[in-house]
Amino acid sequence: MDPRRLRYLQAMGIQAWELRRPLVGDGGGPPPPDEESLWRELIDEIARCTRCDLHRGRTRTVPGVGDRHADWMFIGEAPGEQEDLQGEPFVGRAGKLLDEMIRALGYRREQVYITNIVKCRPPGNRDPKPEEAAACAPYLKRQIALVEPEIILAVGRIAAQNLLKTNAPLSRLRGRVHDYEGIPLVVWYHPAYLLRNPPAKRQAYEDLKLAWRVYRERKKEADG
Ligand code: SF4
Repeated sequence: MDPRRLRYLQAMGIQAWELRRPLVGDGGGPPPPDEESLWRELIDEIARCTRCDLHRGRTRTVPGVGDRHADWMFIGEAPGEQEDLQGEPFVGRAGKLLDEMIRALGYRREQVYITNIVKCRPPGNRDPKPEEAAACAPYLKRQIALVEPEIILAVGRIAAQNLLKTNAPLSRLRGRVHDYEGIPLVVWYHPAYLLRNPPAKRQAYEDLKLAWRVYRERKKEADG
């Protein structure tokens, strides 16, 4: 079976012994769904989701945008007002700054994949509650399994704490390389914070440089 599909099914909680059954099309059962169908199914599920209270106030769900095979995955915390209206993560001023940082890496927005910890807007732009992040986590897991990024950038404290399952402050999480299930993860300031504190942009560029070095090394190793 295609390793990407195998990881996706594992992210859905389907055990290895189940994967050997004809259910997934390795002998007599229905053919396994192709990647496009897996994405469609995931986006549809998110659009209909009522797993947590955030569904009550949403205008649109905000699953994610970008290259579905991107090497770089940016994960923020939650959609804000504009994102909720447009159905796209990181729009508005913070989104423009994120685009600028992505360009500093040599990419365009559509060449990376951008999503959030939760896919619906918390009221008044408050932080997502732990139970909301937990309810939404399986969707993110499935996205990561499908994209298979080479590196993850956790954008802001909430994203970093949720992905790394820690309460440590951002200052302790930044500036080093973490591991998210075998994928290197670098913690980055939220662009909304950088807009309020422009001097922190220098450190944000340092974090990008760190992420770039990690990415290059990983690619070099992969290329032999
Ligand atoms: S935030 Fe996630 S878990 Fe909660 S309703 Fe939206 S899609 Fe479902």
